[in-house]
Amino acid sequence: MTAPSTTAVPPADDDKTSAGNYFVSNYPPYYYWRPDFVPEAHAALDRPPRPNAELGIYLHIPYCRKRCHFCYFKVYTGAKSSEIREYIDAAVAELEIYRTKSFIGDRKPAFIYFGGGTPSFLSTSQLTTLAKALQSVFPWDAAREITFECEPGTLNQKKLQFIRSLGVTRLSLGVENFDEHILEINGRAHRTKEIDRAYDYARQADFPQINIDLIAGMLEETPEKWAKTVEKTVAMAPDSVTIYQMEIPFNTTIYKRMRDAGRLHAPVADWHTKREWVAHAFDRLEAAGYTVTSAYTAVRDPQRTQFVYRDELWRGADLMSLGVASFSHVNGTHYQNAHDMDTYLEHIKCGRLPISRALTPTTEELMIRELILQFKLGRIELDYFRSKFDTDVMDRFSLQLNQLEERGLIQRVPDALVLSREGLLSVDALMWDFFLPKHQGGRYA
Ligand code: SF4
Repeated sequence: MTAPSTTAVPPADDDKTSAGNYFVSNYPPYYYWRPDFVPEAHAALDRPPRPNAELGIYLHIPYCRKRCHFCYFKVYTGAKSSEIREYIDAAVAELEIYRTKSFIGDRKPAFIYFGGGTPSFLSTSQLTTLAKALQSVFPWDAAREITFECEPGTLNQKKLQFIRSLGVTRLSLGVENFDEHILEINGRAHRTKEIDRAYDYARQADFPQINIDLIAGMLEETPEKWAKTVEKTVAMAPDSVTIYQMEIPFNTTIYKRMRDAGRLHAPVADWHTKREWVAHAFDRLEAAGYTVTSAYTAVRDPQRTQFVYRDELWRGADLMSLGVASFSHVNGTHYQNAHDMDTYLEHIKCGRLPISRALTPTTEELMIRELILQFKLGRIELDYFRSKFDTDVMDRFSLQLNQLEERGLIQRVPDALVLSREGLLSVDALMWDFFLPKHQGGRYA
């Protein structure tokens, strides 16, 4: 579930959860990307790769069993197998078009990410067709990491063994919560029995890394229920745990209900409470031997458990994304595919890449993008920005950094800046102050 929504408006300043996007997942914000900049994306694809830039592939599988009430991704429910087949063929055809472009150079993909939607919604036979076809166009034998997102209720032992046989190294289970009622009231398709079963089969299939996704602050969450979810997670001992704070973007069912009822605030916990819940989870995970490696992630063994996709993207790697509404970044240009399935398929049928909007950030904007994203790791290495962008972060952002320091949210250490735990848990709200003034307009839109 990595594709961000197309609008990005953080919540208003009060602490209640109002509608809007809280997470800052890219920069400049998506609403500055435009159809008339699409030629820039094509030009970027026709240039050779930048020296030392890694290349990754993201494939968006936009199908789910059911639409969760908090979901803002481009997903379809009730898809027929013929539709899925057509989509798979289109994604493979899209990769074939990419293979003719100069930006690939002599690179092989360093990381692959199957996201959605629900990649595990595909049957074993659909996955076989997809994987064989993709590999015949562009083998992923040199990939350091292959991630595959799953919804627990779509898994069985055979499918998990098959997913492992594709070379998947990182299996990400969208658990979100372990309470039956919370799963149901939030529109999740799976239940706890299915989580337990899928996790056991995944362990038996011997994935090098199993990640569990949780959300703090789902509808009807309580401190007691959250504590139970955290304890259950600790007891299962996954290799990594990713915890998001619940946000309510405008295109969610929850927002539509709020709007119809004339409510300004979402019926979920406020931001302070959600931060407290994540802080509690991180404390418990640390007590169990985990290390917090980002604003959202704790891992059991930081030497062994990496997240190549995240770390490469946050350092400016190229990402070639396939599929409807997916987001790419190539040779310094951002772009997004057509958001609508018919338009996406039509472009592919005509032998064209389905790019619908783009933006080429300036070097300064690329620097800010990496700064914002790397702040989410809790630590900024000053030398990195000096050598890559010729920027002294301490001078360039002295105003913002002084304010964070006065609030006790950041600490200067030799050659680095380190966020406090409180700073880390609020990092998405803090990052807006690092945007260029011309990009801060959407904040209260
Ligand atoms: S599983 Fe739910 S949250 Fe995830 S993409 Fe599907 S509908 Fe959205």
